[in-house]
Amino acid sequence: DEETSLNVGETVEEVARLISHQMKRADITCNVYHKAEQLTVKGDRNQIIQAFLNLSLNALEAMKETESGVLSITVSREKDQAKIVFHDSGDGIPASKLNRIFNPFFSTKQEGTGLGLSITHDLINEHKGSIEVESEFGKGSEFTVRLPLEPDRT
Ligand code: ADP
Ligand code: MG
Repeated sequence: DEETSLNVGETVEEVARLISHQMKRADITCNVYHKAEQLTVKGDRNQIIQAFLNLSLNALEAMKETESGVLSITVSREKDQAKIVFHDSGDGIPASKLNRIFNPFFSTKQEGTGLGLSITHDLINEHKGSIEVESEFGKGSEFTVRLPLEPDRT
């Protein structure tokens, strides 16, 4: 792995580009929101992309059965951290399962490995960040990632 300075907004745009190929259905859209301000974090670009991609692909999978779906990814600054919120209008996660979704091999999908969120959690932790989830069954989910901004840039 390689440590670099990466622009969070650009990284999110890259992830949106990657999933645009996966969006086979026209009634699922992805919106990226970020201010012009440059938010820079230190880390492994591929690992951060992997983490964001896992969250985005889960969102798309959660919206497969819905009439129309929206994934919005919002980048903002919160004190000395970059905050990246992935909000989807998918099927949501029942409260009884919320505390297990980050466990390796926990999956509710026929063909799921259950490794995506576990890996994502580890990757974010390795970057000294945090990840939280809020979800309402039947309404949608929101995953919030926080990553420390590169100190000499804050
Ligand atoms: P997988 O995608 O292979 O099932 P993950 O670790 O990525 O494994 O996710 C674990 C489980 O968490 C999923 O099977 C699903 O039940 C739930 N989950 C994760 N993200 C979402 C989401 N955005 N909406 C609804 N459920 C989700
Ligand atoms: Mg997954």
